Amino acid sequence: MVIPEDWKIARRGAVCSSCDALLQPGRESVSAIYADGESFARRDFCDACFQSADRRGVPFSWWSAVVPEPEKKKAVFDLGVAKEFLQRLLREDDRARDSLRYLLTLMLMRKRGVVLVGQNQSAPDANGVSSEVMVIRVPPDDETVFEVRVAELDEAETERLRDELGKLFQL
Ligand SMILES: [Zn+2]
Repeated sequence: MVIPEDWKIARRGAVCSSCDALLQPGRESVSAIYADGESFARRDFCDACFQSADRRGVPFSWWSAVVPEPEKKKAVFDLGVAKEFLQRLLREDDRARDSLRYLLTLMLMRKRGVVLVGQNQSAPDANGVSSEVMVIRVPPDDETVFEVRVAELDEAETERLRDELGKLFQL
């Protein structure tokens, strides 16, 4: 998959990252997140391009919705993209992404994209180690609960992750 150099600045309200068609308000479009080594990248697509396996490649997560009017409810759309990404991280439950999952959970909690149900100690893992977890759910699903391990973040890592998440989701 070839990704143009400037894909990172592709913005909703702009153009499809594959065919350059305008993403028009009122039309369906897709925002996809790609794992790119240690970090993640976002590309926005028109619906037709995302249907093409060649054009969309292999996203980590994606969120499909009607393009909002410029500046209107844009934040709600980006919140949807971020929540879908978090749910993928939660299902994957990769220990290597503990910090990212934990920090995104905290950021979405503030935006009411995530609801804290409680705090707990997890069941011991294969090594008999139990960790502190937050029990959360992601509305509108009010039945499924997830455990998010509480990560110990140093200041530099927090800043790096915040920056990355801010760029991906305009948080
Ligand atoms: Zn397109």
